[in-house]
Amino acid sequence: MFRRTFTSTLAVALCASTAMAQDLPQANSEYFTAAQELLAERIAAENNTRPAKNVILFVADGMGVGTNYGIRLFEGQQQGMLGEEHNLPHDLFRHSALIKTYNINAQTPDSAPTAGAMNTGAKQVFNTINLDETAVFDDCSSEQPLALFSEMMSDAGRSVGFVASPSVAHATPAAVYARTANRNWFHDAPEGCRDIATQLVDQMEAGVIDVALGGGARDFAGEGVAVEKGTGRRPDGQNLLERIAGLDVQYVFDAETLAASDRSQPVIGLFANADMAYEHDRPDTEPSLTDMTIAAIEHLSTNEEGYYLMVEAGRVDHALHGGNAYRAFEDGVQFAEAIRAAQEMVDEDTLIIVTADHEHVISFQGYCGRGSSVVGLCMDISDDQIEHSGEPVLAADGLPYTVVTFGNGAGSVLIEQEDGTYSGSRPELTQEEVTDPDYLQQALIPMTSETHSGVDVALWATGPWAHLFGGTMDQETIFHVMHHAVFGAQDAAQ
Ligand SMILES: [Zn+2]
Repeated sequence: MFRRTFTSTLAVALCASTAMAQDLPQANSEYFTAAQELLAERIAAENNTRPAKNVILFVADGMGVGTNYGIRLFEGQQQGMLGEEHNLPHDLFRHSALIKTYNINAQTPDSAPTAGAMNTGAKQVFNTINLDETAVFDDCSSEQPLALFSEMMSDAGRSVGFVASPSVAHATPAAVYARTANRNWFHDAPEGCRDIATQLVDQMEAGVIDVALGGGARDFAGEGVAVEKGTGRRPDGQNLLERIAGLDVQYVFDAETLAASDRSQPVIGLFANADMAYEHDRPDTEPSLTDMTIAAIEHLSTNEEGYYLMVEAGRVDHALHGGNAYRAFEDGVQFAEAIRAAQEMVDEDTLIIVTADHEHVISFQGYCGRGSSVVGLCMDISDDQIEHSGEPVLAADGLPYTVVTFGNGAGSVLIEQEDGTYSGSRPELTQEEVTDPDYLQQALIPMTSETHSGVDVALWATGPWAHLFGGTMDQETIFHVMHHAVFGAQDAAQ
């Protein structure tokens, strides 16, 4: 009965929109017909309520709605479009939500408790990972550990892996496997506390983590000890790579050894001493985020029971901290490539979530015309063509300005004077100067490192139970949807 009602409502809706399309003067607008096609697709679409076999959580660190917009235009313009009309792969996912990112004690979050919320289902304390709400930063005696999604998946016979462009011990990947009162204990922790790299090896030994790919070789070897791609930093002198060699875990260190690794065996890849290169500066010997994502899916897919994979584009965040929009957007394009590659490799049993841990203080300025380079000057809207006029828009100081600026950071126009005060004015900018990949966009408040912001980020999802995302949600809800898609839906199906 319900089904019949639904079907007839659908038919009426389709007729109504077709009739409207024929009658209205705007019916021949390409914008209008494209929107009609999307509407018909949405009316016909059905929610996927299969139990999820696999979950892939894509996190572009620091890619809030603003940064995602910048990446969209950057990629579209690289492909010869004006840019605004372009869609990133996740822009086309049917389900999305706005995500509140605050931490228990922070309006503006950091990447540790935000990733922790996604992996445990509960908000956490600033600069800590996967501890309960009584945690005290930098005090490991306060550590009350939370249960992790990775451990639940592993207990259920599924494989778990992660890919990250910073160190594998950095905050976002660490939230997949570690608990710590200080996210900076990469390779060193006070007496009686566990550093993060050691916890990764513990979790590989326990069989929880099967694939770990990223940077951070220095976190795994003793101080001054030379290893592939770097020199150890561990003050305890431990060589964790020797421990890894004693486990059934392969160790790879460049694009070639990653490509040659046995997909049926666990693997750790440490491709740089600290963070991996920005995509703009990446040598061919270093695998890209896409290369790592493909390899991780190939490895994890050898488990018939399914897997959980977290992929972090961590250097989007680093480029934004540096006030450099170009590298942030180029790493964002690589993130989009990794999502496209994953979509081609998985089927309707895989829940794919794309989101960010937090946004930055990036802003987009002025009434710019279509196709203004998103890393260039804001160009005036043309009176007689779609594309901008080619003439920069001028501010009240008579000078042009860039599309992107930052609220604070290294590009501040306020310069420290001899008497210790800050003052300044904006220099004249040329298009050639501001489109250089090394250019730092103008900012207001002077800071050595540009900051995060507390504003909501977006989440996009496709696959089993993706329709549970919607409206404005707290970040920890991501865990609950992933858990229901895998375990709740499985119980219901039995
Ligand atoms: Zn950050």
